Amino acid sequence: MAEKFDAIVVGAGPAGITAAYTLAEAGAQVVLIERGEQPGTKNTMGGVLYRKMMDDIIPGFWEQAPLERHVIDQQWWLLSEEAAFSIGHRNLGHDQPPYNAFTVLRAKFDKWYAQQAVKKGALLITETVVTELLKDKQGRVIGIRTDRPEGDLLADVVVVSEGANSLVLEASGLKPMPRSETMAVAVKEVIALPREVIENRFHVSGNQGVVIEAFGNATLGMTGNGFVYTNKDSLSVGVGAMISDFVRRRIHPHQLLEHFKQHPAIAPLVAGGEVKEYLAHMIPEGGYETMPPLYGDGFLVCGDAAGMVIAVHREGSNLAMTSGRLAAQTIVEAKRDRDFSAHSLSRYWEKLNQSYVLQDLRQYRRTTPTIERNPQILGIYPSLLNEVMGQFLTVDGVPKREKEKRLLRLVTRRRPVTGLIKDAWRMGRAML
Ligand SMILES: Cc1cc2nc3c(=O)[nH]c(=O)nc-3n(C[C@H](O)[C@H](O)[C@H](O)COP(=O)(O)OP(=O)(O)OC[C@H]3O[C@@H](n4cnc5c(N)ncnc54)[C@H](O)[C@@H]3O)c2cc1C
Repeated sequence: MAEKFDAIVVGAGPAGITAAYTLAEAGAQVVLIERGEQPGTKNTMGGVLYRKMMDDIIPGFWEQAPLERHVIDQQWWLLSEEAAFSIGHRNLGHDQPPYNAFTVLRAKFDKWYAQQAVKKGALLITETVVTELLKDKQGRVIGIRTDRPEGDLLADVVVVSEGANSLVLEASGLKPMPRSETMAVAVKEVIALPREVIENRFHVSGNQGVVIEAFGNATLGMTGNGFVYTNKDSLSVGVGAMISDFVRRRIHPHQLLEHFKQHPAIAPLVAGGEVKEYLAHMIPEGGYETMPPLYGDGFLVCGDAAGMVIAVHREGSNLAMTSGRLAAQTIVEAKRDRDFSAHSLSRYWEKLNQSYVLQDLRQYRRTTPTIERNPQILGIYPSLLNEVMGQFLTVDGVPKREKEKRLLRLVTRRRPVTGLIKDAWRMGRAML
């Protein structure tokens, strides 16, 4: 007879660890299953970790967690082939507790976070792959099958938090295989550099950190972006774009990363660094419209497995943590009522609906599809803006009025006025 728990959590990423932590803290018997050697070994993130959602679980976590730098400066760069138009926000209000966000390396962070769940009483089982959900004759989820001999486990409820590559949901008929237009793939290198070099290049001191998102030529106009984030003594440098774009353009993600690192605005930042790690991962960017059922008889779905990513805001880990916490709270209530039916677990949906999670996912549901269907947005505008700025800022004796007329002609030659208006309207509608 297979062992029975109150809850089984599939996958020890931010969503799963949070669910296990919250359940264990509430006194539930919970087992957390992870296929990697350790939590974090299979995980990739840029990675900016947002303080608020983690603080909701472990108040003041920054005093003990293995974090890299606290973010005081966020920048957005629009790249053409040889120029960069940038806007940024440096905020020294974020230089002190409680901070706003941190850069992290997931191999260290997830391992530490899972240990906190274990300290609360969760049972962590690593190097074990969950292959499918077990169901009873009525179709209710009653446990999991793993790749271990006699590896079935039973539970009142299963939390599926297996991340973007959600093979368990697919194998259990709860989610179709995602289309390549709804999935991005991102590659990242961790590039070692001495601390003082990072401080000089990014104008920071101590543990202050900078994050840069780059668009346009960073991805050769594909739907996605490049990034450079400062760690203590390394940089996280990566690019990501929709899988369908990579296929259409016949570009390998690794080639795109090399291209990004060689851009004249990026090359000086990474110069002299030594690549320590190379990582690749998928990001579910289909958004609200492509989310699977988030609950049913005996199961709940959290984080990336549920498609909870808002790419335009670089948010994923926070949604994963909040959904993991709300799933656990729902289970605690279901345990109290001794009712693990879909009806009882639908409280999870209500909680998500009341939180920023579903409200934001709904608000941004059109963003990625709109950018994908309108390749001019990342394909033309970043280079056009750089061209306009380049000419405008060149002091060449041309009278300003004449220059303004020339620039207007330049813009409308590349994109007619009707196209400009339509693009502004489309993006406004997709974001607001
Ligand atoms: C390159 C990149 C950059 C990103 N940058 C950011 C960022 O800066 N900020 C941010 O907030 N988000 C970022 N994200 C998104 C963020 O990483 C995810 O949203 C977040 O990790 C989701 O957490 P999760 O727990 O749902 O899934 P994951 O972190 O993917 O965790 C899932 C876990 O389940 C395990 N697992 C999977 N299948 C099984 C199985 N069958 N059996 C057992 N275990 C299994 C995996 O090994 C993994 O440990 C980025 C993503 C990528 C790829």
